Amino acid sequence: MNRLPPKQLVTEIKKIVSQRQIWRGRSVPARYFRDGLRGYRAYQRFPKSGFTPYLVIRPETTKELALLVKTARTFRYPLVPFGGGTGLMGGAVANSGGIVLDMKGFGSIKEISSDDRTAIVGAGVVLEDLERELNHEGLRLGHDPWSRPRATVGGAISTNGLGYFGARYGTMGDQVLGIEAVLGDNTIIRTRAAERSATGPLLRNLLIGSEGTLGLITEATLRVFPQPEHSEMISFQFPGFEEGFGALQSIYAAGLRPSVLDFGGDFRGIEDVGRRQKSSEVPNALLYILLEGTTEEVRAVKKKIAKQVSPFGGRLRGKEYGREYWKLRHEVVYRYDIDEDGFSLTDQRRKGSKFDFVHVYLPASKVLSYKRACENILRRHKIQECEFGVWNQPELFSVAISLPSARPSDTKKLARVVDEMLLLAQEIGGSMEYCHGSGIKLSHLLPKEHGHSLMVLKTLKDVFDPDHILNPGKLGL
Ligand SMILES: Cc1cc2nc3c(=O)[nH]c(=O)nc-3n(C[C@H](O)[C@H](O)[C@H](O)COP(=O)(O)OP(=O)(O)OC[C@H]3O[C@@H](n4cnc5c(N)ncnc54)[C@H](O)[C@@H]3O)c2cc1C
Repeated sequence: MNRLPPKQLVTEIKKIVSQRQIWRGRSVPARYFRDGLRGYRAYQRFPKSGFTPYLVIRPETTKELALLVKTARTFRYPLVPFGGGTGLMGGAVANSGGIVLDMKGFGSIKEISSDDRTAIVGAGVVLEDLERELNHEGLRLGHDPWSRPRATVGGAISTNGLGYFGARYGTMGDQVLGIEAVLGDNTIIRTRAAERSATGPLLRNLLIGSEGTLGLITEATLRVFPQPEHSEMISFQFPGFEEGFGALQSIYAAGLRPSVLDFGGDFRGIEDVGRRQKSSEVPNALLYILLEGTTEEVRAVKKKIAKQVSPFGGRLRGKEYGREYWKLRHEVVYRYDIDEDGFSLTDQRRKGSKFDFVHVYLPASKVLSYKRACENILRRHKIQECEFGVWNQPELFSVAISLPSARPSDTKKLARVVDEMLLLAQEIGGSMEYCHGSGIKLSHLLPKEHGHSLMVLKTLKDVFDPDHILNPGKLGL
């Protein structure tokens, strides 16, 4: 499908949206050429200048969008939804050419209800903007990813993202009550905005995490939450990863559920992945926990947690560490902002190096043996710079890997290492990615991830998007 748009298609599009909503050819801003997947990652088919769409359109109403889908169907021309462009797997790039749909045109917050604890918002609303408005009403969003200042509601739903409050509120998808979307057959659907409903399979769940391959989300009704009376961030240091992980398991076994839980350890050379301090200055393993509730609750849970972690050598750190961690939690995403030439601070900083990560779901009992297996893989490939982490719950394990002075050919080596780790996670009963989606980067591993279920997903794709124009090549669909 990698072809220029037929003249007739452009003529038809101009009848639907106005000139100010269209960018074409050289006028397409460089920010649409790539999302959070960049050239230094373990992806071998990344073009130097990014992925150039033939056309970018910013629809502003659901009706406009449905007409655009209808027109694209006639010409069988690909449509790629683009939210904040922070997705890390290349889900929002025009890898088959086509039209990028900038969903930020759906940018209004329609309603915030304190009584219902709900918000009705356009898919293009930036999470941080929504958070700010909710805060005015004493409410907050239960989804707070590192990328909150840039990511949109639609992008977060479409990747089923997970944020800092994941330990308490779950994924973005868990907070969606209802969805409005335009499907690939250009019908508009609006699912009933009911949190609980026993009236058959929930259609909204098929759109959550579907990365724009089944439908284009225009609006969502979200569950939002009251601000807690009291909150306290605490941090502990441990002699090593294994001890810290033991403490996490013990916290969970005691039935304690903090609002935020972020654990990292065995930092080898990686500066500034999540802990924003030079690894040489960081203790070997660190746990950050945010406790929330009434003042009495927080005090009681803090005491209990201190008791749980102490047999594992956990030592409480000064309050200033927790404060700093929390204050700087979104900083890294600003470094992904793309300038006029199509590059960001992150691209500059990682010049001449390679960097990637895995974020896998594993049965908690297998986390430590999986970590040891990953260490063996890294050793075999003579990779020294790495960091291990657990986020939100003991089952969510991550490895960050860096090759500091790398040649272009090292992309292949890094890709092999990452694939080995992901395949191993699948083999031992886990899932290869817990929050960033699959996009183009992981699509080759989806047959193994889903097995026969992938055929069922493909059949669903035929129903939702009969002409396969919605985000082709993503999610293995
Ligand atoms: C520094 C950094 C930190 C990050 N931290 C986190 C984190 O803590 N947690 C986390 O979960 N993720 C994180 N991410 C990944 C990313 O921010 C999330 O995946 C985010 O939800 C993507 O939102 P977006 O609006 O930028 O979506 P985009 O990147 O624009 O799109 C993501 C996917 O959704 C599709 N899409 C976008 N909008 C729509 C729509 N309206 N309808 C249908 N499909 C649509 C796109 O086609 C694409 O497949 C991080 C990324 C960066 C760069």
